[in-house]
Amino acid sequence: MRIHYLGAARTTTGSMYLVEVNQQRILLECGLYQGRRSVAMERNRNFTFDPAKLDCAVVSHAHIDHVGNFPNLCKKGFTGNIYSTFATRDLAAIMLVDSAEIQRADAEYVSKKRAKQGLPAVEPLYSGIDAEKAIRQFVSFNYDRTMPIGDGVSVTFRDAGHILGSAQVVLDVREDGRKFRFLFSGDVGRPGQDILRDPDVVDKVDFLQIESTYGNREHHDAANSLEDLERLVGGALKRGGKVIIPAFSVGRTQQLVYEFHKLVDAGRLPVVPMFVDSPLSVNATEVFRLHPECFDEETYRFLHEHGSPFGLSNLTYIRDVAQSKALNTLPGPAVIISASGMAEAGRIRHHLVNHGGDANNLILFVGFCAESTLGAQILAGVNPVNIHGEPKTLRAQIAQVDSFSGHAGRSELLAYFRQITGDLKKITVIHGEETAALSFGEALRLERPNAEVIVPTPGQIVEF
Ligand SMILES: [Zn+2]
Repeated sequence: MRIHYLGAARTTTGSMYLVEVNQQRILLECGLYQGRRSVAMERNRNFTFDPAKLDCAVVSHAHIDHVGNFPNLCKKGFTGNIYSTFATRDLAAIMLVDSAEIQRADAEYVSKKRAKQGLPAVEPLYSGIDAEKAIRQFVSFNYDRTMPIGDGVSVTFRDAGHILGSAQVVLDVREDGRKFRFLFSGDVGRPGQDILRDPDVVDKVDFLQIESTYGNREHHDAANSLEDLERLVGGALKRGGKVIIPAFSVGRTQQLVYEFHKLVDAGRLPVVPMFVDSPLSVNATEVFRLHPECFDEETYRFLHEHGSPFGLSNLTYIRDVAQSKALNTLPGPAVIISASGMAEAGRIRHHLVNHGGDANNLILFVGFCAESTLGAQILAGVNPVNIHGEPKTLRAQIAQVDSFSGHAGRSELLAYFRQITGDLKKITVIHGEETAALSFGEALRLERPNAEVIVPTPGQIVEF
């Protein structure tokens, strides 16, 4: 078996690995590459292989950097099955349609700029119809059910505890009289997180492909973050302010709502109007409700004793634009959760404009903000900031709680690695910025001196 490391090699974006085994070609992940527009356009539009010659594809979870380029792959001639868990398919169904809308808006923007230079318009990477067609190619099955997906290859999904439906991908292979197990970690979640289960332990692994997003970094303590959340949000509400939280639509928003539900039930936060203002978040929450089989025991119990963890009597989910605009003039204390998490796009930017000028309010970041995004600028104290091309002076309190990350920190990732059993012969380290991947690779060499550790460069081919 050999793997071509086509994406997320020495970077975290555009996950894509082409597996060749028993004269078959299996694509593992088909993510969108996210980065500078000119580079991203080129990378996402063109595949370095013929999609029509693939036998099938497997995807670990529904984040757009893992699943986001399937509509384009199918448009370019891929007709095989896309294997995933049920929840991954359902989340992909809403995320790919949302992504198509972003592609359309993006192409429109670029075309306008090109028109000024007398250049022809560009087509969107894919349309909503392409996204819906790709969803028809999904074949889904539950965790821990082993399915043959080709000659001498079967796949088993094991929980990765990263987002709803996320999986580690186990490939059991028979090739040229050899029999071996290959484990792709997918994105590994943090143990002890709310809603989701901890990552499963996989046994008897011969070859491992492991992520390294936080390969050189740790997270703060989760328990402290809940107290921070209570203190910060409680403080702002007490002074009659509004709490504005930029959050990613899938995962973080549902986790926050669940935390608030627990804090309000326990009388640790007052009952005030709460809003989740993002159409994608509303859709994603529906998918969460449909998949209690993905919940951990605590959430499952909560579901039976208190009702849906994502529904509160004082909570309103907003799809409608008019309803969203009505929040601009809402009197009194309230909590508004809206996308996107880095405040780069989405309705959150309107809420920052409308509520950022009031010193009673709190702007609370709950996740990582990549360099040079609006979120990172606000956190760095840039003031005024540019929103929608206008300078905006912020007077609201600005704070961050960091424990809601979906990725295991370095020591959690090492703990996950140590639990894997088997005679590991080769390990590839992927899905991390170069320094993180190299640093984590070094740590793995010390852990398993008998295993060969490779940190593939883009396009590198590794034999297993
Ligand atoms: Zn992910």
